Amino acid sequence: MHMAEQRHLSNPVLRGRLLAHEPMRKHTSWRTGGLAERAYVPADLEDAAQFLRSVPAAEPVHFIGLGSNLLVRDGGVRGTVLLMHCTHAVMHLHGALIYAEAGAASPKLARYAATRGYAGAEFLAGIPGTVGGALAMNAGCYGSETWDHVERVLMLDRSGSLRERRPADFELAYRHVALRGAGLGAEEWFAAAWFRFERGDGAAALRRIKELLQQRIADQPLALPNAGSVFRNPPGDYAARLIQACGLKGCAIGGAHVSEKHANFIVNPGGRGSGADIENLIEHVRATVLAQQGVDLVPEVRIVGERG
Ligand SMILES: Cc1cc2nc3c(=O)[nH]c(=O)nc-3n(C[C@H](O)[C@H](O)[C@H](O)COP(=O)(O)OP(=O)(O)OC[C@H]3O[C@@H](n4cnc5c(N)ncnc54)[C@H](O)[C@@H]3O)c2cc1C
Repeated sequence: MHMAEQRHLSNPVLRGRLLAHEPMRKHTSWRTGGLAERAYVPADLEDAAQFLRSVPAAEPVHFIGLGSNLLVRDGGVRGTVLLMHCTHAVMHLHGALIYAEAGAASPKLARYAATRGYAGAEFLAGIPGTVGGALAMNAGCYGSETWDHVERVLMLDRSGSLRERRPADFELAYRHVALRGAGLGAEEWFAAAWFRFERGDGAAALRRIKELLQQRIADQPLALPNAGSVFRNPPGDYAARLIQACGLKGCAIGGAHVSEKHANFIVNPGGRGSGADIENLIEHVRATVLAQQGVDLVPEVRIVGERG
């Protein structure tokens, strides 16, 4: 056993689960990818902080929510992955704000807000990731983005310390979030956030959630492993339109296919495609759209790990 593992396992203060050689296909919506050298499932936020204090400084650390925007390469992930999704992550009202921990699922936040008489969180119902992932990606749809509603966030750093930050501390744009002025070595992750939504008609918000989910079932290939939109929409256009115009719907490499239902989705039926199949298909689509349409599409999905 690796020395670091021994130390984690024998640390009596830790209450989470440490997993060695954990298959990342179990933690990504594309159902593919290699092994994480180590994965830790924290018992709660304090336990995640405690765990970080025990990780050797040279060891890479990755935070992952529900893996719904993530391609893990076949060679796996070096270092330790913190698997943050937690069904009992804390969510509560804090005055006029809603406090939600990073490990909570975004659709749960949408429903929590609606049932407490807030409007404006409905868009989160169809984004199948965690609050942490939504903050990291500035996830959004139907004209709303996560950071439109963030009052402040709680960050967890490499030394296990928690600190609050304001939106002004971040560069925020379409599917882009970066800590301002952070040097390359800065390592901070989202631990929680306080959201502001308008008081409104909760029953109407719940009806809107139902409508939005029905719309997604109609438009998106939700029955097959996927990671949502693969590419960002370029200014003034839609990635799906450009991909379809190139005749790429149904195009396949190995087990990965461009969805017939939504051209900006790549599906991986039965999880049979490898990470390399998906990555090669992403590159093929990108090169084809550039050659035929003159637009260089930028991937929205995050790619991590080593080539197999
Ligand atoms: C069917 C489907 C539909 C989708 N629809 C949409 C949509 O409409 N709009 C949209 O924006 N996205 C959409 N997505 C993409 C995805 O759900 C979002 O990007 C989501 O917010 C990712 O959350 P996650 O917890 O799964 O993040 P992950 O995929 O686990 O991680 C994504 C990135 O966030 C980082 N991250 C995760 N947690 C933290 C944290 N606590 N602190 C710091 N960094 C962190 C990871 O390191 C990684 O870089 C869709 C995906 C699917 C499968």
